[in-house]
Amino acid sequence: MIVNTCGFIDAAVAESLDAIGEALAENGKVVVTGCLGVKNELIRKNHPAVLAVTGPHDTPAVMNAVHAHLPRPHDPYTDLAPVRLTPPHYAYLKISEGCNHRCSFCIIPSMRGDLVSRPIGEVMQEAERLVSSGVKELLVISQDTSAYGVDVKYRTGFVHGKPTKTRMKELCDELGDLGVWIRLHYVYPYPHVDDVIPLMAEGKILPYLDVPFQHASPRILRLMKRPASAEKVLERIRGWRSICPDIAIRSTFIVGFPGETDSDFSQLLDFLEEARLDRVGCFEYSPVEGAAANALPDPVSDEIKAFRKEKFMKVQEKISARKLKSRIGKTIRVLVDEPGVGRSSADAPEIDGLVYFEKSSGIEAGHFAGVRIERADQHDLFGRIA
Ligand code: SF4
Repeated sequence: MIVNTCGFIDAAVAESLDAIGEALAENGKVVVTGCLGVKNELIRKNHPAVLAVTGPHDTPAVMNAVHAHLPRPHDPYTDLAPVRLTPPHYAYLKISEGCNHRCSFCIIPSMRGDLVSRPIGEVMQEAERLVSSGVKELLVISQDTSAYGVDVKYRTGFVHGKPTKTRMKELCDELGDLGVWIRLHYVYPYPHVDDVIPLMAEGKILPYLDVPFQHASPRILRLMKRPASAEKVLERIRGWRSICPDIAIRSTFIVGFPGETDSDFSQLLDFLEEARLDRVGCFEYSPVEGAAANALPDPVSDEIKAFRKEKFMKVQEKISARKLKSRIGKTIRVLVDEPGVGRSSADAPEIDGLVYFEKSSGIEAGHFAGVRIERADQHDLFGRIA
């Protein structure tokens, strides 16, 4: 079993270590990959039985470890096929590595360095290869998708011989021509992001934006050294919705950051009420070894962090339930993940909600279906094949 881990913040480290433990209990043979892979000692201290620990984005090392422990007969056809670690119908498309920001709670830039964008021609070749192998949904990822091409000054590359700038808008335009779902993750609310919203309204790419806001108090955002300020964010969200009313916005937030006062937290709740985001994740702040935020004064106690997280999630659950309820009676298109379970354009795999429908429909994973929604809770939708 391969466990993909995250070392972004300590909550994610703990979750990753738990996942490794569960995988060992279930399977006994575990290879660890992903960001936490750089902390080999920590993993081995907690789980000495893992077979191998590899770093992030090191598919060859993962496969070497798999083959070392699970030898297989040589097959001249499949041995040359590219290896993916996701189900056959969706795939992650990494467009750049590293990050030029220096958020005070994050150590990713020190682990992976500054932004390095992949040439647009190379990204498109990989995307086309994935689509021709049967992928129906491409999830565009990076540390900052909106910064794509900044490091190469939006250099002109070539896609099928056509000069094309290494820039988010052009990339989305090209990906949108592939005829599969294109979903954007880790986008910051910079002004140029507005350029891709019309592509969502036209149906070229999914009306979905994953924007990690992290907080809404300008003071806390400054302490976090976040790349975007909160002031214009609500205005920007209103603008996006006026162009593409169906847009689903997902975000993550951190509560209990050092120095966060009751007033900062109230500003965050006010923002949540006003922004009415579709999907939201919330983490309690925990210091990560090597992060600049560790030196900040006024830590928030664990009790207050837990209280704020609970309150935050209660507010968001009401918003989410209201939004999902508004979909009752509508027929929505889903990509089926397994019999009886699919995802709409508003749901990224693993992190968002699901759409349940009758298993007896016989529609298999990787197919699209129309589901008429009959019921909703705070996270998921329930209906029948239309
Ligand atoms: S934008 Fe901030 S949180 Fe995201 S990878 Fe860069 S430094 Fe880390």
